[in-house]
Amino acid sequence: MRLTILGTGNATVTKRYNTCFCLTNEEGHFLVDAGGGNRILQVLEESRIPLEEIHDIFLTHEHIDHLLGMIWLIRMIGQKINQGKYEGELRIYCHEGLVDTLTTIAGLTIQKKVTKHIGERIRLVPVSSGETRQIIGCPVTFFDIGSTKARQFGFTLTTPEGTKLSCCGDEPYNPCEQQYVEGSDWLMHEAFCLYAQADQFRPYEKHHSTVREACELAQQMQIPNLILYHTEETHGSARRERYCAEGRAYYHGNLYVPEDLETFEI
Ligand SMILES: [Zn+2]
Repeated sequence: MRLTILGTGNATVTKRYNTCFCLTNEEGHFLVDAGGGNRILQVLEESRIPLEEIHDIFLTHEHIDHLLGMIWLIRMIGQKINQGKYEGELRIYCHEGLVDTLTTIAGLTIQKKVTKHIGERIRLVPVSSGETRQIIGCPVTFFDIGSTKARQFGFTLTTPEGTKLSCCGDEPYNPCEQQYVEGSDWLMHEAFCLYAQADQFRPYEKHHSTVREACELAQQMQIPNLILYHTEETHGSARRERYCAEGRAYYHGNLYVPEDLETFEI
């Protein structure tokens, strides 16, 4: 299984893309979120993930930095369907509240000759918390992260080899997720900024956490691989070094602070 990190930034970044990623195996691609706009097309192109090969997408929640790229994917894939350049169907998994949201925004912003495919070749698939679906040949269990900002789901996926990867969305791990996240080999977790800079970035009032807290969590849960994302970007190319320097004091597993377009074998 290859994990391609398409974006690593929080909502307001300009030099990186908003947080989204793609899991790929011989069965296909599973895209998670789409960032905030048209740049999803660029990062997919640069990662050599053709739109024609994307059939499964998961949308965690409604916020602008996760959802609007999805509108572009609906537009571009719908257009390819019209051109006879896309086979089969596109499935967009999300919690039930997002089906109306996506349908409405797409209906207001995309031509009818494209949106007519919604409900047919472009299927919005509502999932409930605790529900498991087979996606790219792997069981994927979705769960409500218990957000008080906007309803949001994360997921856990197990590869045929037994590797378990969990994604907590863009908010800190909530103990209500324990039954899904415990025993993970890989954890994808937000880190808004360094703990040392919490006074400057004020992550807690935005329902975010810091490198230190994400690392303490992964250490406590004994998760061997931790990927941090959804960060601020004031450190430029030194982000990895500075975040890892802070995190290593609290976490003794493999700590990754990837750049956009970085890939992992999991
Ligand atoms: Zn976000």
